[in-house]
Amino acid sequence: MPSNKTQADSSKMDRIVAEARRNRELRERDYREQALKIYPWVCGRCAREFTRANVLQLTVHHKDHNHDNNPPDGSNWELLCIYCHDNEHSRYLDSAGRGEAARGDEQDAPSTYKAFADLKARLKGKQ
Ligand SMILES: [Zn+2]
Ligand SMILES: [Zn+2]
Repeated sequence: MPSNKTQADSSKMDRIVAEARRNRELRERDYREQALKIYPWVCGRCAREFTRANVLQLTVHHKDHNHDNNPPDGSNWELLCIYCHDNEHSRYLDSAGRGEAARGDEQDAPSTYKAFADLKARLKGKQ
C-alpha cells in the first residue's frame, strides 16, 4: 500500500535526521570541551569571565563559520558568551547577503573567457 510505504520512508528519514543530529551534538560537545581546555573562560568580545557555575553560557564560535573546521590547536575557535555569539552570527548573516552578490559577479567570468577566445581568433586571422 502506498500509504504504508510513505510512512516507512518518513520514519527512516526521521531516524537519519535524528542520527545526524546526535552525531553533530557529540561532535560539538567534543570540540567545546577541547576549546574550554585550550582557552581561558572569558568571552572574546565582552571579556565576561566564566566559572564552572555558568560556563554553559560560554559557547564555541567558529571563526570561519564552518563547524566542520575544527583544527586541534583551536585556531578556528573563539569562546564567546551566548549574547556576543548571537551578535556575531547576525553580523555574519548580513555579510553573507553581500557574499551572494559577490558570487553573482563571478558568473561574469565566462564573458571574460569569451573575450580571450575572440582575441585568439583575431590573432589567428592576423597570421
Ligand atoms: Zn560576551
Ligand atoms: Zn559561531
